Amino acid sequence: MNARSRFARGRIARRSPADIATMRRAGRVVAEMHAEIRLQLRPGVTTAQLDQIGRDVLERRGATSNFLNYHGFPAVICTSVNEQVVHGIPGSLVLHEGDVVSIDCGAIIDGWHGDAAFTAGVGTISAEAQRLIEVTDEALAAAVEQMVAGKTLGDVGYAVEQVAKRSRLGVVDGYCGHGIGRAMHEDPDVLNTGRPGKGLRLEVGNVLAIEPMLSLSGEEDTIQLADGWTVLMADGSLSAHSEHTVAVTDNGPEILTRA
Ligand code: MG
Ligand code: MG
Repeated sequence: MNARSRFARGRIARRSPADIATMRRAGRVVAEMHAEIRLQLRPGVTTAQLDQIGRDVLERRGATSNFLNYHGFPAVICTSVNEQVVHGIPGSLVLHEGDVVSIDCGAIIDGWHGDAAFTAGVGTISAEAQRLIEVTDEALAAAVEQMVAGKTLGDVGYAVEQVAKRSRLGVVDGYCGHGIGRAMHEDPDVLNTGRPGKGLRLEVGNVLAIEPMLSLSGEEDTIQLADGWTVLMADGSLSAHSEHTVAVTDNGPEILTRA
């Protein structure tokens, strides 16, 4: 979860190897939430049941939620279905065959945060929906590759944008990734667009949450539901969202939100 807020100036926080080790532990809890929820993504399940799976993993691992009570958010995961892009609230909604669901969640261990999201289909989904999910994952992978000392935030955003454009998908406007560490959302904003070589320069120890949000129609505009949270495509287009927390290390990019 995150809304584009501001452009950061200066430098991106650098984390010590010990700090990154703790973030890796938080990231592994997030990965475990993803894995368990993914197994239960089937017709008939409610989004509240998926949230409970997330709560169970957090409790089992001695982690706390950075989503619960965030500006009043009432759950430990966001569940955004079909034309919903991000920030959907789990509840009595029943998932059906063919739905496309984004699951976004995070965890805190010893004060350090992890944050990641994936999109998957419920049962059999359309070929177009499958393509949307695959390209969104591909955009994230391309951006992760740019997480190398000496590259820039512009390189990261450009990587997402190029993958989306090549497949004629829209880059959702107004939402983006972010710095992450002692808080879930820190400077800088990590945009899903950019110019190569422009913007803040990456250094070893930087940790960013990168999260492309793409639409099937090419639409970029969103609207927000009256619940104050759920963001959906203005034209009702199918959308997908994929996110990892990624560190810049001496050995290149390291995805921290991985099992
Ligand atoms: Mg997230
Ligand atoms: Mg995030």
